Amino acid sequence: MKFAITSKGDQKSNTLMHKMRSYLIDFQLEYDEEQPDIVISVGGDGTLLYAFHRYRSRLDKTAFVGVHTGHLGFYADWTPDEIEKLVIAIAKTPYQIIEYPLLEVIVRFSNGGREKKYLALNESTVKSVEGTLVMDVEIKGQHFETFRGDGLCVSTPSGSTAYNKALGGAILHPSINAIQLAEMASINNRVFRTVGSPLILPSHHTCMLKSVKQVDFIVTVDHLQILHKEVKSIQFRVADERVRFARFRPFPFWKRVHDSFISEG
Ligand code: NAP
Repeated sequence: MKFAITSKGDQKSNTLMHKMRSYLIDFQLEYDEEQPDIVISVGGDGTLLYAFHRYRSRLDKTAFVGVHTGHLGFYADWTPDEIEKLVIAIAKTPYQIIEYPLLEVIVRFSNGGREKKYLALNESTVKSVEGTLVMDVEIKGQHFETFRGDGLCVSTPSGSTAYNKALGGAILHPSINAIQLAEMASINNRVFRTVGSPLILPSHHTCMLKSVKQVDFIVTVDHLQILHKEVKSIQFRVADERVRFARFRPFPFWKRVHDSFISEG
């Protein structure tokens, strides 16, 4: 089996990375940064987001596992004092793969039918470059509302505990094949109206944001922030691709939610 390790880059994460690398090589595993079967991310959830984007072109062949060197994470749930146990598990046990849904984002431009496609593990947000964001929101081909406000956030179930949660969105179990649309400070009065609640869309429903007056937008995809000019529309749906995590022991999602937000058990 071939493996790679990504580190947050701080001293603690780098030391753990070097330790795990030499332990795994001692177990006859091959270090291969280009085509790994398993990627170990050492740092936090943010580090796993970077690893996900680094190996985005081989999601069907790579499984991820996360070690946290800070607080307990959603994607990084192994602690530094468990790395010997994790190394043995990787080297000796046939691990279980669990798959989580991803978000597909397609930005279409007004000039010449050009488009750009992205995949998000957590979420994608849309904000205007200047002033209030104004966009028509279409769901499954039907006009739903004209949004005015700071921005819109579309998240995956596993990303629902990140930015989406800060916006008042619901926490979704990652076995639910859906995406969630949450508002950022919408303008609501007698003239302008939005639904005001987060919406959860099933995998066969597409959400499309269409330019009304602005054509330049800041689109984020997880930690990446990209300025897009001359945009006609931005389409969101549950992606065909899925992210794969290597599971060596049960760690129920709701326990992770409890331990992260209520109290560490
Ligand atoms: P960052 O600003 O350095 O860190 C954002 C925080 O979000 C970190 O504490 C990170 O955990 C945590 N996080 C990431 N994914 C999570 C998940 N699925 N569930 C719960 N917490 C999660 O940025 P970054 O490390 O590059 O990460 C980018 C992410 O930041 C975006 O995808 C977005 O979700 C999040 N963000 C949140 C807000 C907000 O809550 N108001 C605003 C902007 C962006 P670790 O410390 O373990 O890495």
